[in-house]
Amino acid sequence: MAERSEGLPEISCYIHAVSPVKKSNGSSYINCDLQTEAQVVRAVCFEVGKKQSLESLANQKSPVKIRNYTISKKYGREDVVITRKTNLIPTVVHYDYQELDKNISISTISHVAGEQLVRVKGEVQQLSSTKTVVFDEVPVKKQQCFIVDPSGFIKLVLYGKHADTLEEGKVFSFNRVRVKITKNERYVNTPKNESECVISPDESFTEALPSVETTVSPVLGGTGEILGVTNISKTQCCCSCNKKVVINGNLATCESCKIVQKARSCKVQWYLRLYIEVNGNNQQRLRLTAFNDTANKLLRIGNLAPTATHEEFTQCMLNLDPLFISYDIQTNKLINVDIIDI
Ligand SMILES: [Zn+2]
Repeated sequence: MAERSEGLPEISCYIHAVSPVKKSNGSSYINCDLQTEAQVVRAVCFEVGKKQSLESLANQKSPVKIRNYTISKKYGREDVVITRKTNLIPTVVHYDYQELDKNISISTISHVAGEQLVRVKGEVQQLSSTKTVVFDEVPVKKQQCFIVDPSGFIKLVLYGKHADTLEEGKVFSFNRVRVKITKNERYVNTPKNESECVISPDESFTEALPSVETTVSPVLGGTGEILGVTNISKTQCCCSCNKKVVINGNLATCESCKIVQKARSCKVQWYLRLYIEVNGNNQQRLRLTAFNDTANKLLRIGNLAPTATHEEFTQCMLNLDPLFISYDIQTNKLINVDIIDI
């Protein structure tokens, strides 16, 4: 888990949605949401003794300053980690507490930060068949559709007990679905804690609804397991212009701008060719190319530094659980990878 603890500015926020105590791999924790002035971020608290304070701050809608926390990037986003050392200090802020689960229109989801739980009402369209995906070796039902209101439409992914509960053309209220933002799209899904979300039939809209326009994208997504590494290369680049350098002992000379620099200050650029089994609309095995951005994301998921060796990186990739992946079917470029965390 990439964490840093020094030099983090204190956070002023309101606390929302304190969860019951959860258990994972022998440790107990609580989740909550922090409403700062600019956004809502997720927090995880490993000090379950702080549950009561968090709950009373949430119930009283009292703003608080958070000091001495750390950040986890485990899930590809920056989660605030509250530990025994973290201080929660009552404070004053100049913005208001917002009801996070208030009914919002579909078009306003584009202004909402990722990972928030929202309540939307929409008509179900293009309801797919139900498939089974595997999370942590447990099969889970998955179904998707679009939900439409007079302001717009958005994709909804239903997991587990929420699959097979909707009907095409009917209107439902979706109370507490999670906003997900990836590089390629914005959508909502039912949260991992299924009972957090309540879906109930609602009245039809009296206004006209827009039609769902889904352009055919060359980007496909699914879950993928890395079966093999066809090619792995690491290039050291100039710390100034990013071009190739020639290494000579401790020194590196840029072929382009001619700066002589410390070899260890050079940036590292990874390039990968991977053999991946993809479970999307059908199962297939593909050779996909990952450039530096995506390679770095794989390094972070595997808790490795960009300076890892080829062997360390290869071994790490072949030990990873299946990931959510998206790739371009025309160029076979691996665009994004994410750990499976719904
Ligand atoms: Zn240079």
